[in-house]
Amino acid sequence: MDLFDNVQSEVDEFLEAQRPTWPNEPTRCPVFACGEQLYRSFSSFSRHWSQKHKPDIQQFACVACHKLFYRRNDYTAHQRKKHAVVSPNTEGTSVPNELYIAPGGVLPYKADLREKVAAKRKQLATPGETLVSHEDTTTCRDQEFDDQRGENVFKKSKK
Ligand SMILES: [Zn+2]
Ligand SMILES: [Zn+2]
Repeated sequence: MDLFDNVQSEVDEFLEAQRPTWPNEPTRCPVFACGEQLYRSFSSFSRHWSQKHKPDIQQFACVACHKLFYRRNDYTAHQRKKHAVVSPNTEGTSVPNELYIAPGGVLPYKADLREKVAAKRKQLATPGETLVSHEDTTTCRDQEFDDQRGENVFKKSKK
């Protein structure tokens, strides 16, 4: 197990070094199947990447009403708003990504350092928003994605 972890982290480091840096201008997803849509910021690009090009995603189920969320921030916001509590279940569950598009060997951009610093400043300026993943997928919203998800989940859970 340890051996595998070591190999995996070496592979990750190698891939990290291969990744192009975000050009800081509206840019397409490098995956051909994603077409012409431009992403204005690294955070909106990386949010797209985690929605479409990761085989597994995190899912958060509200313990009070069983509503499902795909972003931790949405989940905690829902609980605060609807139930006035935040349950400790903030780890989420890993589930297969129904929207997955195989990137076919294409690597995602990595953050330009300047944007990382800006995101960090922003994060420090908004106390209470401490649950930010390392890819900072929280600054933009993708309502279409949520709607698709919500509908799928709704249909399934209705039986
Ligand atoms: Zn894409
Ligand atoms: Zn709820």
